[in-house]
Amino acid sequence: MHIAKQKGCGKIPPKARFTQQEIIHKAQKIMGASGIIPCTACRYCTKGCPQQIPIPDIFASMNKRIGSGQLDESQADYDKLTASGISASSCIECGQCENVCPQHISIIDNLKECSRTFEK
Ligand code: SF4
Ligand code: SF4
Repeated sequence: MHIAKQKGCGKIPPKARFTQQEIIHKAQKIMGASGIIPCTACRYCTKGCPQQIPIPDIFASMNKRIGSGQLDESQADYDKLTASGISASSCIECGQCENVCPQHISIIDNLKECSRTFEK
């Protein structure tokens, strides 16, 4: 059989097609296994935070540290981000953010980890 004559040759087979949501879920699984916080920076969590904590930006600093080992750069990012005095340790654990996070991230626990990491 000549491959070039096969029906649909060159096209992506139906089973290999994924919806955008499936792709996001697969990426999240991979990120979860690597320790990366699977935040998509949608910022739904920030609007109602009584402490005005820049949650996704803090997570981005942490992901930079975990994902690429940029210790100094991620620390500099975090220090700049929290120069106003509002930081991961400002969280009062009200839970508002976790209720609205579409990725179901344990934001409070992750902020604690960010605090332990960057506020030594
Ligand atoms: S749990 Fe912490 S980070 Fe989340 S909304 Fe409340 S104060 Fe903000
Ligand atoms: S709601 Fe969740 S995914 Fe969206 S920015 Fe906040 S932590 Fe990240």
